[in-house]
Amino acid sequence: MSRGGSAGERTFHASPAFLVRAVDMGEADRRLSFFTRDAGVVSIIGKSAWRSRKRFGGMLQRYVLLDIAWTEIPGKIPVLSTAAVTASFWPIVEEWERVRHADYFLELAAEMFPQAGPKPKAFGILLDGIRSLSEGEAPGRIARRVEGGFLGIGGWGPDLSKCRRCGTEDSRWFRFFPSEGGVLCGSCAPGDGMRLSLGAVKTWRALQAGSDAARDRLRMPDGIAKELQVVMPAYVEYCLGKTLRSLRGA
Ligand SMILES: [Zn+2]
Repeated sequence: MSRGGSAGERTFHASPAFLVRAVDMGEADRRLSFFTRDAGVVSIIGKSAWRSRKRFGGMLQRYVLLDIAWTEIPGKIPVLSTAAVTASFWPIVEEWERVRHADYFLELAAEMFPQAGPKPKAFGILLDGIRSLSEGEAPGRIARRVEGGFLGIGGWGPDLSKCRRCGTEDSRWFRFFPSEGGVLCGSCAPGDGMRLSLGAVKTWRALQAGSDAARDRLRMPDGIAKELQVVMPAYVEYCLGKTLRSLRGA
């Protein structure tokens, strides 16, 4: 949300947000990157945020849902005015796997949706992912849900509805080709591509659908989880054209 005046005037903004990155600047200030629901990625100066525990209460940490407010002045970096914790997800820091995945989700959101503007769907998926980590759900399973959701709403698909060559929907095996943004059936595929069982393809389709009901019904046997753990992060990196820092060793 924003209110404020015409060009050249300062404007005031507020949104639910997660802190993605914090970099020290000089003695006291920090450059803070947030992923916000109402403005997407926002890079803000936290004036004395590092030292002024009184002002920001040590709240500028990861793994908490924040409500932040900031001021934009034309030609300058926006300045954080307030930050308050709406929900904390502390159980995440009890386990390295959860921390690593939380970092991954934050990096994914910022990398896959870098454009300015409201991002309610992506923010909802991120919040669900962080909350699920905190509640103890298996990190890998959550990660596939987050990847599937982000890829879907970001317009990357992939199209898993049928073989892209012959149109069959029910091949026992498919092969996934990132460059095609889809699958070829066992009969049509040359020897390369990433092998996916029909079960894995169907699971990914359900992850794309992304509704809560579909999610709760979704069972992910270990075999399918292993298949998707290889293919989905690789496709995310293919789409972004870069290696994700937090993913290494995942
Ligand atoms: Zn085919």
